[in-house]
Amino acid sequence: MQDLRDRILVLLFLLVIFFIVFLIQSVNTLETNLKVPQEILLSHPEIQIERIEAKDQEESKMIQSGGILANKLLASTCFKDMLREMRFTETRGLKNEEIYDYLRAKPIKLNVQVYSGNFIENDILGVIGFFTPLYPEYIFQNRHYIVNSYEAAPNILHEAMHLMGFRHNGALESSVPYGMDALFFNCGSKLGEG
Ligand SMILES: [Zn+2]
Repeated sequence: MQDLRDRILVLLFLLVIFFIVFLIQSVNTLETNLKVPQEILLSHPEIQIERIEAKDQEESKMIQSGGILANKLLASTCFKDMLREMRFTETRGLKNEEIYDYLRAKPIKLNVQVYSGNFIENDILGVIGFFTPLYPEYIFQNRHYIVNSYEAAPNILHEAMHLMGFRHNGALESSVPYGMDALFFNCGSKLGEG
């Protein structure tokens, strides 16, 4: 009995430590400002999907097409022009033009893992995808929602913004990640124009 109680205490202690570390980390990352690198390599932002972990070839191709669509948006003048006009919050100190420069400094490299969401993710929270600093080279996409490239693309853009250090408190639509969703839907019809 004593043994079990000790174990529970140790577990609780570890949980508290973990929570404190998590809090410190999130406060830190919110407070530091992002900087535009001195050297800007690209004429427009670009996402490079290096690895796709999917259940089969078909799903993998769908994500790949999503990546192509996402890059079409990033390369478009619609994206550049609309980004300049948007009123963002949580920009970590960057002005709109600086966000554009920050994103095009070098290719945004990432891996995509498609996963099967659980009941809570699928039916209660509606988790389309997520990013975690525990796996900073990955974005995770829930196959419950990501069923075609037009669903994959805006989520790739959204999660890529998390990977680049932008956040949102709750579902703040004025954040940079949600801004990408909005840009994708607003510029979508113009993407074919190159
Ligand atoms: Zn998000």
